[in-house]
Amino acid sequence: MNPLIRKGGKRPFLIAGPCSAETPEQLLETAQRLKANVNMDMLRAGIWKPRTRPDSFEGVGAVGLSWLVDAGKEIGLPTTTEVANAKHVEEALKAGVDVLWIGARTTVNPFAVQEIADALEGTKIPVMVKNPVNPDLELWLGAFERLEKAGIHDLVAIHRGFSVYKHPKYRNVPNWELPIALRERLPEMPIINDPSHITGNRNLLLEVSQKAMDLNFDGLIIESHRDPDNAWSDAAQQLTPESLGEMLRVLVLRSKEVTSEVEDGLTQLREKIGVLDDRLFEILTTRMQLSEDVGLFKKENNITILQEEHWKRVITARMDKAGEYQLTLKFIRQVMDALHQESIRHQIRVMNPGVNVNDRDAK
Ligand code: PEP
Ligand code: MN
Repeated sequence: MNPLIRKGGKRPFLIAGPCSAETPEQLLETAQRLKANVNMDMLRAGIWKPRTRPDSFEGVGAVGLSWLVDAGKEIGLPTTTEVANAKHVEEALKAGVDVLWIGARTTVNPFAVQEIADALEGTKIPVMVKNPVNPDLELWLGAFERLEKAGIHDLVAIHRGFSVYKHPKYRNVPNWELPIALRERLPEMPIINDPSHITGNRNLLLEVSQKAMDLNFDGLIIESHRDPDNAWSDAAQQLTPESLGEMLRVLVLRSKEVTSEVEDGLTQLREKIGVLDDRLFEILTTRMQLSEDVGLFKKENNITILQEEHWKRVITARMDKAGEYQLTLKFIRQVMDALHQESIRHQIRVMNPGVNVNDRDAK
């Protein structure tokens, strides 16, 4: 089957469906409501779910494959599901699933990817490969190479973000520079963004989808459920087919104006700077949250906010590294002073809940 997902094809190529197949009715109703509300191209549902904790719902298993294939036929669209070992591949192929995907927890393991590649040898089924859970471009590339060697050439990348401990905003941080780097290495590979697993939160799906479109991703894979709050897995990030339809209508698709190679090069560099700036500000947010923890700790122990000696040591240590950072002393001083002021503002706020610190700054 032609995978439909082509660079320069319909944008965004849209894959939608529930995180997990739960019952035949849940899958069919979700698929029908999606078809009625969303301009989508493929139906997804997880059959075998790789869950972090063993007492979570681990998928209905092979019995759900025919529910997925039947729901796809009912709405006239191809289907896709996740496979994590040779047995899954065999069962999914037998059931007639059109496209397979390799999940983030599988991409990290070359043994597992090789087992899947071996099981796929001799077939022509398209395969989508999610990025590994850790931000390792080579591991992601390695998975594509293993599949290519097994004769699988219809390949698509899915960017679903990377695990970190306690992020203030995302379930999996996007690290947009990774998919951008993948595009540099494999310019012909279609890349799909998975805002559901990046955000873990339905309220952030639009923001991340918009960013993916602005960075010229080819498609989106989004989890949608007939009754999201009662979904058996990933409830917080799923939304109803109707809400997904509304969200997609708000998405702005800007055309990529490439008049010359020079402009293209410049755009790529600016994209990289933009994503690094995003990360800088996310790190600043986390850093200020830690400052607030320090403030609370000082309050509990009755210590004043300003600890002059400590601060002098911190600044000196940074300035000593000016050469290593290749930054001027003046710049380091300005950044550290700005950080310090903002940090004090956060500490005052948590130590004196009644004081309006924002007014102070307005001057
Ligand atoms: C999924 O798509 O349902 C899934 C389990 O994704 P990931 O491998 O990205 O965690
Ligand atoms: Mn999911």
